[in-house]
Amino acid sequence: MRSAVFIIDPHIHMVSRTTADYEMLALSGVVAVSEPAFWAGFDRSPAGFIDYYRQLTEFEPRRAAQFGIDHYCWICLNPKEAEDLGKANEVLQEIPKFLDCPTVLGVGEIGLNKNTPNEAKVFQQHVQLAIDCFNKGSRGQGVEGSRGAGGSGKHHLILIHTPHLEDKLKGTRMILDMLKDFGSAIDPARVLVDHVEEHTIKLVKDAGYWAGMTIYPISKATPQRAVDMIEVFGAERLCVNAAADWGVSDPLNTHRTAWEARRRGHSLETLLQVFYNNPATFFGQAPNFKPRPMKVSV
Ligand SMILES: [Zn+2]
Repeated sequence: MRSAVFIIDPHIHMVSRTTADYEMLALSGVVAVSEPAFWAGFDRSPAGFIDYYRQLTEFEPRRAAQFGIDHYCWICLNPKEAEDLGKANEVLQEIPKFLDCPTVLGVGEIGLNKNTPNEAKVFQQHVQLAIDCFNKGSRGQGVEGSRGAGGSGKHHLILIHTPHLEDKLKGTRMILDMLKDFGSAIDPARVLVDHVEEHTIKLVKDAGYWAGMTIYPISKATPQRAVDMIEVFGAERLCVNAAADWGVSDPLNTHRTAWEARRRGHSLETLLQVFYNNPATFFGQAPNFKPRPMKVSV
């Protein structure tokens, strides 16, 4: 399979994958992966989240390094576990200390699952955390951020999960509305809205956010639909991932999409842009992300 030579996998849950998967990714050109915090297949206790964050920030980077892959991650309480507001509050208090870890890129993947009021509340709390912790933390400007009060527009990078299937359009609209309420405290260039499909990609890109497409074997997009979307909506501010996790998923679906684009005659520059330079540019806004955009020389 011919790929874009180098690939950054922008969304993959490596804690659920084997070392054989790491080897396969390395052999197929993946040089860096970004792992959002998400559900573990079962609801955890607050203490379970701390262990999970330590796994993401301490153990997983070492496991990836054995295969020459840089491992980065995101920290949050995922929307599937946001219904219990008491638990959410306990976990939210623990998140700031992890945001300054050397391989953490920002807050994510936050978002909505069933579009409930409690999920929305916890989503807003996470966004506020991304603003406040950036301003108080080592990556901030030392200024106090405040919601909707003409803030600096600087905050930790934010990675957003949009709901599945019938909940996706409504949930995406709710998420974009909630972000809008933060006014200039949120910089759309520092937010990636993931799992977009044909009916949500335009909403996300038109509002100035980055968009992520997820290629799943049985739901979400296919390689063919993803390349259609690149052709219709353009390659700018667009990333592709397989979001491989504990379920039926395939880390090579990112590569299959690159291959489909190649098969249709898209240039090496386009492949490099979508599968390497776009994630490098978005993640590169975090000073600790090392890979830099590359140019093809002919
Ligand atoms: Zn995910």
